[in-house]
Amino acid sequence: MTWSRLLRDPLGFLWAALSTRGVRLLIYAFIVAFLFPSSRYLLIVAIILTLGVMWYKDYRKTGSRKIIFLICAILLIKIGYFISYFDVRNVDEARIAKRPWGAGISQVKDGKYTGEGEGYRGPIKVEIEVRNHRIISIRTLEYSDLISVLDNQVSAFKRDILTKGMLERPNQPEMFRGATETLTGYVNAIESALTKGIADFPEYSLFSKAYLNIFIGQAPDRVTLNSLAILFATFMVFEYALQSMLVPGTGRSINCYNCASCVGVCPLKEVEGVQMPMGLVLLTRLGEYDRVMELSKYCVGCGRCACKCPIGNSGPLIISAAFQAARQKKLQKSADTGKETA
Ligand code: SF4
Ligand code: SF4
Repeated sequence: MTWSRLLRDPLGFLWAALSTRGVRLLIYAFIVAFLFPSSRYLLIVAIILTLGVMWYKDYRKTGSRKIIFLICAILLIKIGYFISYFDVRNVDEARIAKRPWGAGISQVKDGKYTGEGEGYRGPIKVEIEVRNHRIISIRTLEYSDLISVLDNQVSAFKRDILTKGMLERPNQPEMFRGATETLTGYVNAIESALTKGIADFPEYSLFSKAYLNIFIGQAPDRVTLNSLAILFATFMVFEYALQSMLVPGTGRSINCYNCASCVGVCPLKEVEGVQMPMGLVLLTRLGEYDRVMELSKYCVGCGRCACKCPIGNSGPLIISAAFQAARQKKLQKSADTGKETA
């Protein structure tokens, strides 16, 4: 699969890309990163580790230099991290003098402002109205923590703010699950709303905002981690079947029951830790065609497995499918290279 093919034959390029497990994994990672911003950091670490292992193996085997691109990308990410780190630190220091806490409310202009904080179970959004440098109303627009937090704690805190007309530290919440996170999220939402009414409130640079948004997002919460685990399991199950469906000739491997009847009659039974020929079927399903070709030398072609398999699979059949798939890939690659050099 080469980039020049994208211009010549976009559909063929797309199909070849989708037939590659790494590309599918990347598409999956992008979708998850889009749906769960707080998973971005974990996904980037996972992608870097996966590519690092794959490309290092390629480098050892074929001398491929792809690993250098990865090292450059890691360096650029690191440089971006330092730029953002110093920017965020300087802005945070500058913000201390401008915070709207307590008497700092005198800096906030009259008006209605919305703000957002992260609670125990998700975002908390509020709308604050300020008049004559006093907070006169707090409206909750989004609040997902209702089931984990006693609502009267938040209500008491809200009454307290409205009585004093300013934002002050809440009392230590009762010790129940998620209370601290909820109150912190609520306070952060109010604070972020009030800062919008302060003239010249220091802001992070566009670069830092983009960097934090793309590479870090927020710290992964429990919901994100659970969702990632479910999505990953779904992906693996789906992926297990997809590889065979997308590669012509290997589709039969997805029907294998793993009954091992073929292993029972095969004179080889097991070679290099792989049960024959059931292991070949499973390897084909995973797209490990090179490994199937390596192991094919042991098969004597006696055909006993074909007589036993309830779905008509056999060692020779699956070996020839793997050879076909690998050959197809090779032909495509040399066609692409030929057209590129022509
Ligand atoms: S054809 Fe190959 S895989 Fe099948 S039983 Fe004979 S030796 Fe085993
Ligand atoms: S006999 Fe057929 S279905 Fe059973 S494990 Fe072997 S290949 Fe799979």
